[in-house]
Amino acid sequence: MKYVLAIDQGTTSSRAMLFDKHGQPFQMAQREVKCLFPNSGWVEADAIAIWLSVMDVINEVLVKANITIDDVSAVGLTNQRETTIVWSKKTGMPVYNAIIWQSRQSADICDRLSDKKGLIHQKTGLLINPYFSASKVRFILDHIENGQERAESGELLFGTIDSWIIYKMTNGKVHATDVTNASRTLLYNIKEMAWDKELCDIFNIPMKMLPEVKPSAYDFGEMEFMKSNVHITGVVGDQQAALFGQTCFEEGESKNTYGTGCFLLVNTGDKPVLSHNGLLTTVAWQIGDKVTYALEGSVFIGGAVVQWLRDEMRLIHHSSDSESVALESPTGGVYIVPAFTGLGTPYWDDDARGAVFGLTRSTNRSQFVRASLESIAYQCKDVMEVIQKETGKKIKSLKVDGGATKNGYLMQFQSDILGTVIKLPKCLETTALGAAYMAGLQCGFYQNLESIRRIHEYQAIYEPKMDKKTVQGLYKGWKTAIKATRMFK
Ligand code: ADP
Repeated sequence: MKYVLAIDQGTTSSRAMLFDKHGQPFQMAQREVKCLFPNSGWVEADAIAIWLSVMDVINEVLVKANITIDDVSAVGLTNQRETTIVWSKKTGMPVYNAIIWQSRQSADICDRLSDKKGLIHQKTGLLINPYFSASKVRFILDHIENGQERAESGELLFGTIDSWIIYKMTNGKVHATDVTNASRTLLYNIKEMAWDKELCDIFNIPMKMLPEVKPSAYDFGEMEFMKSNVHITGVVGDQQAALFGQTCFEEGESKNTYGTGCFLLVNTGDKPVLSHNGLLTTVAWQIGDKVTYALEGSVFIGGAVVQWLRDEMRLIHHSSDSESVALESPTGGVYIVPAFTGLGTPYWDDDARGAVFGLTRSTNRSQFVRASLESIAYQCKDVMEVIQKETGKKIKSLKVDGGATKNGYLMQFQSDILGTVIKLPKCLETTALGAAYMAGLQCGFYQNLESIRRIHEYQAIYEPKMDKKTVQGLYKGWKTAIKATRMFK
């Protein structure tokens, strides 16, 4: 028994990774999954194609590693959250495409329920938004023949991606989800840790459809489709998996993922902290009886600003050029606010659009690129400021992952502007690693949290170097830029 197999089912691909006893990745296999765009603002995917891609990557990773399933101790599962599938208990087949988290097709349903905003926030820690699963389930029941009737008769099952994969892996024996995925549906009460009848009634969703909710570290059942006796022993939504994979086990520990957008999560311990500034409250994980909560904030345009510099502005050839170009000249008092699709936490301004400030006759390409990178760091500081305000605690260190962490200048500037140490782990596949840690913990492959901390390695640590006065001056300029951007409508 040499490996834990982590399955990471993401929006655009499915991946399988093998991790050894030291938490080191050994082999990986990946398959693209096509998104479908049937209408403007709609994003769907073929649920069967998702399942096939998962089977494919499991087989491929075993072949690549030249091992058999018997060399696998346990399976950990992590997944794109909120994405919704409804399938028939009789046939095991989906009755509608998977509706992807980004999809806006159930916006009208949410608009009609806007008077329930306060109640929903109190119980779920979330906002009423088509992003989460409940309105997507409602949409499916409204768009298939006799949807409501079939759901009420018990014929139809609902699940997020994890439930769907567990169902298929166990040959339809297990219909379950974990607390982290349940906490993103708008139907789960995160204080009582149970499906909530009142919430289900608001969306008119029969509770019969819902999967059983289990801890994140739990024996979800045997993986039967492969004729093995390997069990699925860890299930956790992707952002929470990254928080766990970054070993943010203690209250106040936080991680930020610098991908297309940025996702910042902080462990808030055993109590859910409800936000007044648009942060989401979510279940981080449950191990045994112990539930851990997190606050989550997001930035819409993170690494995407670098893609914009490359593809639209054509100021750089490759994303990686952004660092050397930025370093060609000092910060020139230029601010770029990349509000291309509005502003997220803490401004929640859908109508804001991007802006550039502080241009002079000597502003050049380098300063433009530098200001773009800095905008990622400023936006993350905005989120961090709100988190610190709401938890009443200073965040001591930030662990980072995602494509844009390759940029050393960005990471150093982020550390400077936050006044916080930044740690970059050796294994950047923190989502898969989190699922592997969770599953390994449950099956005894990893002993306990402390032993996981010991094997967890870092490749770089950034310490704040800029003096406080400079930081204050720069950040003040950013705040002014934000204010001015929001006035231009
Ligand atoms: P996602 O999972 O959202 O697709 P990734 O974690 O793969 O994102 O990261 C991709 C993002 O990282 C892209 O937006 C890209 O512009 C950015 N990126 C990649 N390399 C660099 C770099 N050297 N400097 C800055 N940004 C980078």
